[in-house]
Amino acid sequence: MPMPFSILAETFEKLERTTSRTQMVLYLVDLFKKTPPETIDKVVYFLQGKLWPDWKGLPELGVGEKTLIKAVSIALHVPERTVEELAKRLGDLGLAVERLKREKEKGAKAVGLLAFMKQPSSGESTLTVEKVYDTLARVALTTGEGSRELKLKLVAGLIAEASPREAKYIVRFIEGRLRLGVGDATIIEALSIVYAGSAAMKHVVERAYNLRADLGLVAKILATQGVEAVKNIKPEVGIPIRPMLAERLNNPVEILKKLGGRALVEYKYDGERAQIHKKGDKIWIFSRRLENITKMYPDVVEMALKGIKANEAIVEGEIVAIDPDTGELRPFQELMRRKRKHDIHIAMKEVPVAVYLFDILYRDGEDLTVKPLPERRKHLEEVLVQSDTWRLAEHIYTDKPEELEQFFLRAIEDGAEGVMAKAVHSRSIYQAGARGWLWIKYKRDYKSEMIDTVDLVVVGAFYGKGRRGGKFGALLMAAYDPDTDTFKTVCKVGSGFTDEDLERLNEMLKPYIIPHKHPRVDSKMKPDVWVQPALVAEIIGAELTLSPIHTCCHGWVKPGAGISIRFPRFIRWRPDKSPEDATTTKELYEMYKRQLHKIEEKTATREAA
Ligand code: ATP
Repeated sequence: MPMPFSILAETFEKLERTTSRTQMVLYLVDLFKKTPPETIDKVVYFLQGKLWPDWKGLPELGVGEKTLIKAVSIALHVPERTVEELAKRLGDLGLAVERLKREKEKGAKAVGLLAFMKQPSSGESTLTVEKVYDTLARVALTTGEGSRELKLKLVAGLIAEASPREAKYIVRFIEGRLRLGVGDATIIEALSIVYAGSAAMKHVVERAYNLRADLGLVAKILATQGVEAVKNIKPEVGIPIRPMLAERLNNPVEILKKLGGRALVEYKYDGERAQIHKKGDKIWIFSRRLENITKMYPDVVEMALKGIKANEAIVEGEIVAIDPDTGELRPFQELMRRKRKHDIHIAMKEVPVAVYLFDILYRDGEDLTVKPLPERRKHLEEVLVQSDTWRLAEHIYTDKPEELEQFFLRAIEDGAEGVMAKAVHSRSIYQAGARGWLWIKYKRDYKSEMIDTVDLVVVGAFYGKGRRGGKFGALLMAAYDPDTDTFKTVCKVGSGFTDEDLERLNEMLKPYIIPHKHPRVDSKMKPDVWVQPALVAEIIGAELTLSPIHTCCHGWVKPGAGISIRFPRFIRWRPDKSPEDATTTKELYEMYKRQLHKIEEKTATREAA
């Protein structure tokens, strides 16, 4: 039996008017009881204000305000201007349509015309949920030549057939302005009451939704096959799993305590989270917000095809912009630059990426979300075929706060945002869709912006990678410490060189290459070749940061850490300067202190991404 659309419209109106969540649940219970099981998915999608989950990547309705006004005008036989003006006055096209329809109805009644109109005098219509849904789906899926006219005709047809109240909600739905205020959790609660016996069963429905981010689908399985079927829901390749989220702490001692003493600690990369699904030779990539972003990353698709040794798998990692020549991480903004480019093939070349993998949720029929992290890691390591750009996230296992802290500093210096500490005990499952204490993010509270350039001395060099193979690609740079008359390392710089700079590098360094560390150089890092302090270069970076590796100002700010430059770039050579004219350690220390400030949360930029 088809379901009258009037039932849905009536519920929408009630939902819109109530401010009580308990009342909302009751209205939904009432609605679901009146819903035929095979229609429940459509009802749930309507409540969510969409035709299907966003991740399906299906087209949106594609009906702009102008077309919508035109459709109303055609349906109601009133001039477009009238519709437009009333909508403006009421601030809502939905309300305008409702009022115009009511007036028409009244007029028709007065002259006894109702019998000739499509709808009965009760103010209700013969529209069904199925018909409205299917028509709107057709509107969305119509593309190409003549699609504008067809969309217009279909929408006008719906509005003509609808009752005033129904028309109001159809119009608002098309505009994407349903705003009923019903969250997924409320829908889940009502579904549990109606189909699983009580609200206490909501965790079962919730879990299913977390594993298959399609509430319409979960509702349909529940309504047509029962709660046992929902309990047995496993992840399915091609349907995204809602991501596990982390709590935040900024103290290594507390972090380890919270995790039960021991943890897997990984770099927290500053890129885009990617849930990568593989089935045979098909790959899907879903974002943190479960959008299908496969088309944006043809290079990652290639990597995944080669890098996952399983017929079916779901793995998780972070996509990060990298410097192709040095393999070093690039800032988040670079990745955004790539995403803004229209031609993906140009973007791919300009901003190459690497994927750092950190979890596996499904492998050849087995749901791994219920397994503890160490077991998932074993599976992940087994299926991965690693390469330079497709590899496990940098990590350590530790039970020592000092070790965690050192690793954290190294992560920041390498361009990561901090670290993720993860529980490794027997209860360390993958909590899909939940923020909990099994994962703890550790980011900085403060950072020291780098505003001025510094002049540093070359004390070593590294060979490049890829197209720079065999030639020098990065330099180890040091500041001058006049107190000890030594050079203390600050950073490794591999960015900012032009091809011409790089061509000249071998020749420039040649006279200064020595077989061992120069006695006046203080370094913990070991370059491929040592260089006598002679050449000075101007360097800029994003920040000054603490580093466990570099010796500049070692222990001045924090025990066990020196000062380093994050995302350093070469600007130019300073042949006019001698090594002793380079920026001093003390100057770097002053710069660090002067620019230190609290970090604002950057949720906004991530959201915009
Ligand atoms: P949240 O995702 O927690 O709501 P957010 O979007 O602001 O917050 P962050 O707080 O910065 O993000 O941290 C979580 C994100 O860190 C993850 O969603 C993921 O994209 C990223 N990330 C980077 N490296 C890792 C890693 N090794 N393990 C897990 N997540 C990682």
